[in-house]
Amino acid sequence: MALVGAAPLTAAVEAVAAPAAPAGQDYYDKLGVEKIINAAGTYTTLTAACMPPEVRRAVEVAAMHPVRLQELQVKSGEYLAKRLRCEGALVTSGASGAITLATAACMANANGNKPGVLPQDAASLKNEIIVQKSHRYSYDHAMMLTGAVIREVVTLDDYKRAFSEKTIMTNFFNAAEEEDGPQAEIGREQWLEIAHQHNVPCHVDAAADMPPVENLWKYTQMGFDLVCFSGGKGIRGPQNAGLLLGKKHLTDLALRNTNPYGDAVGRGMKVAKEQIVGMVAAVDWLLDQNEESMIAEYSHRAKIIGDAVKGVPSMQISTVTPKIANHVPHLLLKFDPSTVGITVPEVLEKLRAQKPSIELNPNSGHKPNQGIPSDANTLVVGVWMLQPGEAEIVGRSLHSVLTKKA
Ligand SMILES: *Cc1c(COP(=O)(O)O)cnc(C)c1O
Repeated sequence: MALVGAAPLTAAVEAVAAPAAPAGQDYYDKLGVEKIINAAGTYTTLTAACMPPEVRRAVEVAAMHPVRLQELQVKSGEYLAKRLRCEGALVTSGASGAITLATAACMANANGNKPGVLPQDAASLKNEIIVQKSHRYSYDHAMMLTGAVIREVVTLDDYKRAFSEKTIMTNFFNAAEEEDGPQAEIGREQWLEIAHQHNVPCHVDAAADMPPVENLWKYTQMGFDLVCFSGGKGIRGPQNAGLLLGKKHLTDLALRNTNPYGDAVGRGMKVAKEQIVGMVAAVDWLLDQNEESMIAEYSHRAKIIGDAVKGVPSMQISTVTPKIANHVPHLLLKFDPSTVGITVPEVLEKLRAQKPSIELNPNSGHKPNQGIPSDANTLVVGVWMLQPGEAEIVGRSLHSVLTKKA
């Protein structure tokens, strides 16, 4: 019986694995959607990373067969937990979905493991999250979606006093510790230690904090109860996937608070079989890469682009690697607009308007942010999402625009 389908399946797998260009129709062309050169980075609005061929092929193979969803959720979690050296793991709909499920899990954990917490009932339950003022961010919404409320603290004394019987978790925004960030009073280790003295689980948002690859186990091994990563950024999985890693009893509760349970706050954060498999395949792919040679390749791309514009009067070329989020070399091109005859916003507009359209890093022309020391006269080029041959195109285009040939 089992052999009936074997021959066509093998044939199909081999066809998928062939290195030729994909046979499918180009729906970007069909829809009239412009394909861009991403010289920005893993930005959500630019559809973040492209999946490597190995990952795309695994997704295509997974798409050919139905399976039992919960078996896939559980077994992928067990596999990831082993590979990423933690107790429990769950593929989520992204880091933001992981933050919501982490909150739902901690709320269930604090309220007698009762799953399916409805936001309108949350006020009658234990529902407080402690967060440092300098760690408040837009993803607070992902926590508050569950009906949880945030209790803000500044000093260490505030923090110690903030714990009560209502406390369900604490949240730590990992990249808030960048050198140019608002300097928080309480560091990672102390934050964790005090939460654990109160028996309260700690979540750390490390969404964009890979590379280095060991960050995928560093924070769980430090003792953080839950850690989220975005699947579609540095890990290069599907953009609508992410990881929630940590203590098994909490990742189990996170699982109970997502699809397919109709009474769960995460029911809408569905992750399809293709994305679950894509996320696992991306982790496998990543663990096979040589990080040093990847970083060397990014530096090489930065050099190609820097060399293309080094003759532009007043140009100062440097690279910077942010400490925590997006920890890869970024190219900084600083010039005097009155000498060159063009401003940073004008360069960005020209690159966007040309074919192929180029997006530079959104920190271009801005004040220092997340470890990138930009200013009004600095272009920032994020090189890590460039495809083969695109560094040369970006270099030529920048040269033309900065020498008024385009
Ligand atoms: C990108 C990001 C998220 C959201 O990640 P998704 O995978 O797009 O949901 C959350 N937190 C931080 C710090 C991020 O950088």
